[in-house]
Amino acid sequence: MIKKLIRKILGTKSKAARDPNTPVVLGPEGHGIDPRLLSNNAVRVTSTLQEAGYEAFVVGGAVRDLLLGVKPKDFDIATNATPEQVKRLFRRAFIIGKRFQIVHVMFGQDLLEVTTFRGTTSANAPKDEHGRVLRDNTFGSQAEDAERRDFTINAMYYNPANQQVLDYHGGIEDIRAKTLRIIGVPEARYREDPVRMLRVVRFAAKLKFTIEPETGAPIKVMAPLINNVPAARVFDEMLKLLMSGHALACLQQLRKEGLHHGLLPLLDVVLEQPLGFKFVTLALESTDSRIHAGKTVSPGFLFASLLWHQVLEKWTAYRASGEQTIPALHLAADDVLDSQTEKLALQRKIGTDMRDIWSMQPRFERRTGKAPHKLLEHLRFRAGYDFLLLRCASGEIDAEIGDWWTAFYEGDEITREELIASASAPREGGGGGSTGTGGAAKRKRGPRRGGRNRGGRGGEDGNADNAAPVHDGGAE
Ligand code: ATP
Ligand code: MG
Repeated sequence: MIKKLIRKILGTKSKAARDPNTPVVLGPEGHGIDPRLLSNNAVRVTSTLQEAGYEAFVVGGAVRDLLLGVKPKDFDIATNATPEQVKRLFRRAFIIGKRFQIVHVMFGQDLLEVTTFRGTTSANAPKDEHGRVLRDNTFGSQAEDAERRDFTINAMYYNPANQQVLDYHGGIEDIRAKTLRIIGVPEARYREDPVRMLRVVRFAAKLKFTIEPETGAPIKVMAPLINNVPAARVFDEMLKLLMSGHALACLQQLRKEGLHHGLLPLLDVVLEQPLGFKFVTLALESTDSRIHAGKTVSPGFLFASLLWHQVLEKWTAYRASGEQTIPALHLAADDVLDSQTEKLALQRKIGTDMRDIWSMQPRFERRTGKAPHKLLEHLRFRAGYDFLLLRCASGEIDAEIGDWWTAFYEGDEITREELIASASAPREGGGGGSTGTGGAAKRKRGPRRGGRNRGGRGGEDGNADNAAPVHDGGAE
C-alpha cells in the first residue's frame, strides 16, 4: 500500500514493469538535492564536458550521498567521451589504468575521477575457474553503465546543469526505504566479483540500511570466493571498510555474515577472547571517532591494533621457549606480518609502521636513566604511546604505566626528572615487566582497578573519549 503510494508520488514504475534501458527522470522537486552540497569542481568538469558536446553526470556514491543530504567526500563523473577526449579538455588530466582507462582531473589538491560509460559484462569475458571476471573493458551506453554498477542506490546519475537525476534501477525508492539491493541476480554478481559481498557489509553498516533479503541470502555460502580475489584488492576494500567511520559496525556485520574468516586470519579467535575483543573494540571506536572529527587515521596503527593480540600470543610462546624479550617480540611480529602479507598484501610502509609500534612497547617499561627521553624522541613516539594507552584501557597492562607516560609526555623538565626518580625508587612487589603476558595479564601490584573510582584517561570502562588514542603518527 505505502509502496504503491510512494511510486505514485515519485512517478516510478513498479519493479516488474521497469525497463532497465529507460531511466526514471526526477527534477529538483522530486529528488530534493541541495545544490550547495555539490563541489564547484564537479560542476566545472561536467559543464566543460557538456560544452564540448559530450554527456556528463555526477555518478555513484556522490549521488547517493546527495540524495541522503550528506556532503559527498569525493565526486565521480561518468561521460560518453573517451579518456583521450576527456584529457584534451583539461589542463591537469592524467589517463590512468592499463586495462580500463579512467582520467584523473586535478584542480589543486582536488581529484576527480572521470570514467567513460562501461559496457555490461559480456558472456565471453575471460573468467577464472570460479567465475570471477578477469577482464572486461568495453565502453558502453549509460544504461549499460548503470547495469554493471553494484547497488541500485549507487547507480544514479545527476546532471548539475538541469538538476535532473536519472534512475535506472529504482535507486530512489531504495534510498527512501533505506534498502541495500544489488542490481541483477545476486549469485551471479558475487561470482563475477566477490568483493561486492564486502561492499554489502560496508554500505549496510555505514548507511544503516537494511540488506534486502535476496541480496543478503547467498553471502554466507559464497563468502569463501573472496579467497580467490587478488590480495591487494581485498586490502583496498578492507581499508575502505575500516576507514568508513563505522569500522566497529562493519566488523560486527562481517561476523554476522560469516565474512571475517578469510580476511584477517585469527581475527575471529581474537574477538572470542575478552581482552582481545576489548582491545579491538576500543581501537575501532577511537578510529571511528577520529574519522567523524575529520582527523586522519594511520592504516599502520589500525592494523597494528587488529593484530596485536596475535602478536602477544606468539610473543609469549617465543619467550616460553627461551627467547629473550626483545628478539621474541621481533620473531612474533615477523610471524604475524608474514602470514598477513599473504592474505592482505599489506604494503611495505604499513608493515614497517606496525613493526615500529609493536617494537616500541617494551621500551615503555624502561622508565629510568635516559631511556624515557630517548623514547620521546622516537619518530613514531605518538603512535606508540597511543597504542600503549589502548593496552592500558583494555586491561592488558596496568593503567599506572600509561598515566606515568602521560605525565612524562605532558610535563616540563622538572616534572620529568621527578617522574624518573619516582620510577627508579624500589617498589613493593618487584619491578615492571607487565608487558607480554598474553591474554592472562597479571597485575604485579596495587588493587584491581574498578571503573568506578578511576577518572582521567585509560579507565577500564573508558568511553571513546577518554580511551581514544590520538594517533597522528604516520598519517600521510
Ligand atoms: P564511498 O562514498 O564510500 O566512496 P562509493 O559508492 O563512491 O562509496 P566507490 O568504491 O568509490 O564507492 O565506487 C564508486 C562507484 O563505482 C560505486 O558507487 C558503484 O557505482 C561503482 N562500483 C564500485 N565498485 C564496484 C563493484 N565492485 N562492482 C560494481 N560497481 C562498483
Ligand atoms: Mg567513491
